[in-house]
Amino acid sequence: MSETYINAPLRRAIMARDEVCLYCLASTDLTIDHVIAEKWNGKTKANNLVVACGECNLIKATFPFDLFAEFMERLGRGKKADIIARVKAHLAIPTIPSE
Ligand SMILES: [Zn+2]
Repeated sequence: MSETYINAPLRRAIMARDEVCLYCLASTDLTIDHVIAEKWNGKTKANNLVVACGECNLIKATFPFDLFAEFMERLGRGKKADIIARVKAHLAIPTIPSE
């Protein structure tokens, strides 16, 4: 099993915490995204995972989060500051399990 694997309890915890895509607020086609990509040593833990819709996940790819948020604003998918604030607020909510 690779490090990328997000087990079912952790997946459920992230889905319950975030409920919608934290990047664009979509409520369908939901996936789990590493805020700091694994490529940049982002961990598979609750404080680095958010709910993201498939489209946002695809756009984000391995971009650094800050750059991605700026890109989202340029694409008209949300305001950079709002996206960053929302993600930070959700990552600060304790979840069980956390990893
Ligand atoms: Zn989205």
